[in-house]
Amino acid sequence: MPPTLSVPQLIERKREGGALTPDEIHALVSGLMEGSVLDAQMSALGMAIYFQGMRGEEIAALTAALRDSGECWTWPSGTPPKVDKHSTGGVGDKVSLVLAPLLAAAGVWVPMVSGRGLGITGGTLDKLEAIPGYQIAVNHARALQCLEKNGAFIAGQSATFCPADRKIYGLRDVTGTTPVHALIVSSIMSKKLAEGLDKLVLDVKYGGGALMTDVEKARALAEALKETGDRNGVETSYLLTPMDEPLGATVGNALEVGEAVDCLKGGGPADLRDLTLRLAEAVAPCDRAQLETLLDNGAAWARWVAMVEMQGGDATAMEHMHDTHPGPLRVPWPSPADGIVRAVDAGSLARASVRLGAGRNRPEDIIDFAVGFSHIKKTGGKVVRGEPLFFTHARKQSDYDSILPLLDDAVEVSGGQL
Ligand code: URA
Repeated sequence: MPPTLSVPQLIERKREGGALTPDEIHALVSGLMEGSVLDAQMSALGMAIYFQGMRGEEIAALTAALRDSGECWTWPSGTPPKVDKHSTGGVGDKVSLVLAPLLAAAGVWVPMVSGRGLGITGGTLDKLEAIPGYQIAVNHARALQCLEKNGAFIAGQSATFCPADRKIYGLRDVTGTTPVHALIVSSIMSKKLAEGLDKLVLDVKYGGGALMTDVEKARALAEALKETGDRNGVETSYLLTPMDEPLGATVGNALEVGEAVDCLKGGGPADLRDLTLRLAEAVAPCDRAQLETLLDNGAAWARWVAMVEMQGGDATAMEHMHDTHPGPLRVPWPSPADGIVRAVDAGSLARASVRLGAGRNRPEDIIDFAVGFSHIKKTGGKVVRGEPLFFTHARKQSDYDSILPLLDDAVEVSGGQL
């Protein structure tokens, strides 16, 4: 901390709309990690940032301070370009599971550090842990081995990777400061910069099942993420994608792994395949047609099996994660009429799936990998009366009963012309 200034003075300056210098931001972050800045002080600063925002230079300095709080990965020279994708979080979004092996099969390296579910949005790590044995902890030495052998890994954030982000994220979670533009940008980008990337593509979602419901807010977030990446030497692009209906036809961890497997074998739902290809194309060394071939000829699938096995997972178990996952109830939701599916509400299905146990209400909650929804009809599809609009996978009848109010309006069918 500059000797003349105290932490309360910096908080007061931000509270009154002033800017913090890069040195002050670095000192605050390192002080938090050393214990000279209190959790309460950082939380108060977070709330001041909520109301006053941060300028571009302050966001860049905070991002760098979070990145530098732990190890920053570097990779041997002469190795393939390092690329990654980050999604701001959606419902049924299993793209990372398909995209990482697909890009690796295309010849680039994908050092992917992913997150857990947040609120109603699902997390890649939770889906991966549905695969028996899968280890999300990967240190730098192991990461390099995975890249050299398979060209990709998907891991979780360790205690030594952006530890200040972990700490501040925990404080934000319990102090009403999660949806803060400057804090979201610095949190996401610190981790992506620490991966040592050359290129990054962002999938910034908007709509009823996304962190940002409003497309203009999503665009502002996307621009700020891109600016932070570009300023730090990572070529960054983004797609703005709607998240009103779930991606694909499944929501829930094991069910989503099963759907990713279908896609990696050249099948799967059209929207999942298309979004994966559009995101991959933004960072791949080849065009969409070549990427399609890698999905269709088994190359991406073979890469995924090798990745899962290297991280301790049982690759054969993945093939049985569709509908047949043992244990839960499987209940069809019949269409009330002949007609066209007008809307599928990702938010309702996501909230219901968290309530069934597929997500967390508190950090310590244990995930039930088997529960969720499958065979979800897509908007625009034709249905006949009585045909299932989706199947619910619940652990027990009382869990199913508790979500019925959320399911009532989850799928809208009207306009009977078939
Ligand atoms: N994901 C992150 O890693 N951080 C945020 O603040 C929001 C989403």
